[in-house]
Amino acid sequence: MNELNQHNKLYTLENVRLETGFLYSEGQVVGTDTALFAITIADGKIKEIRPNASAGGIEAFNANGKLALPAFRDMHIHLDKTLYGLPWKAVFPKNRTVKDMILREQEIIPELLKTSVERAEKLIMLLQGYGTNFARTHFNVDPTSGTKSLEHLLRALDHVKESFAAELVAFPQHGLYYTDSVPLMREIAAWDQVDFIGGLDPYSIDGSIEKPIDVTVQLALDNNKGIDIHLHEGGESGVKTIHYLIDKALENPELQGRTFISHAFALGYMSPKDLQYTAERLAAAKVGIASSVPFRNMLMPLPTLRKARVEVLTGNDNVQDHWGTFGSGNMLQKANLAAQLYGYETEFDLSRCLHYATNGKLPLDDKGNRIWPNVGDEASFLLVDASCSAEAVSRISTVDGLLHKGNIVKWHHSSPIQSA
Ligand SMILES: [Zn+2]
Repeated sequence: MNELNQHNKLYTLENVRLETGFLYSEGQVVGTDTALFAITIADGKIKEIRPNASAGGIEAFNANGKLALPAFRDMHIHLDKTLYGLPWKAVFPKNRTVKDMILREQEIIPELLKTSVERAEKLIMLLQGYGTNFARTHFNVDPTSGTKSLEHLLRALDHVKESFAAELVAFPQHGLYYTDSVPLMREIAAWDQVDFIGGLDPYSIDGSIEKPIDVTVQLALDNNKGIDIHLHEGGESGVKTIHYLIDKALENPELQGRTFISHAFALGYMSPKDLQYTAERLAAAKVGIASSVPFRNMLMPLPTLRKARVEVLTGNDNVQDHWGTFGSGNMLQKANLAAQLYGYETEFDLSRCLHYATNGKLPLDDKGNRIWPNVGDEASFLLVDASCSAEAVSRISTVDGLLHKGNIVKWHHSSPIQSA
């Protein structure tokens, strides 16, 4: 990957394809209209968007008609403990409970920490190759890792700061009390670079719902952070934990909009009535769900949650690590997976499904008005080999270019053209 630092420069991308509206037949969306534009970038922001024309003296790059989409965002990943970059290794066949895995981590973390800076950087490059320029990454906080996992992650992120951004979740992977991690969490929660206080299955790991959640909430309030806890528990304790955290967000409005439950598998096992009730409470408390879009023995009700206006975020979670091997790092693949799981196959539905990759922006609103990109936006977008969002989602199209705040991170085309 050839990183070209254009951050403070003025330049134009010519022949950029943007979506401009939907095509209709018999009142139904049957296609997506696009046109070619020239986009001028200055100081990392979009300065001008105009119908395609020569840049007229400004340095120019030819996008060759590739489609621009908002840069992808991976909202649940563990950059600190991938095995990517090391020789291929599938997950260990035995001892797969979370408590077994904690024991295993206590053995392997000292060895993994020796290469964690380089491996995190490699994984970030993998994500960038698929058009992702932002991640919410969890990092281990446990007595074996100490502050090392955070320090190494910060070093890796510093090395790529011109091309990638992240928000950080302090994750007590070995439990708050199951191993003695509260003092360490207290210390790390105060670090400026930490954005969220994490957690892990309070009942099954620490033996109580209230005690670990209360500590998590207090750490978030005391340090002005958000919350993002892992909750795999599918039964009664999972349901109770979801509602307990909702109660806490309702009691503390400063937590609303910045409190998330990752996985929340319990939602996948609820009756439609219980799910509707819980979704309404999540929406009212502004507690979001972060999901890796799983589908083994249940389907996460992500469309139902979205319909109830719950914030739903998606991410790869594990990318080839000792917990799971299937994360590819490709957010477009997640959008494609969501489309297949939830039955989205029309032009309109597939175009909306791009949400699962961008975790926010779409080029067109539901009525087909172009709402992205706009002058003044951060110049973070990708170029994909597709005619429209729907095609990109359906075919998991190849990403040919990526810009991060005006810096060209990835560029597959032939050498830049100078139009002057
Ligand atoms: Zn995770």
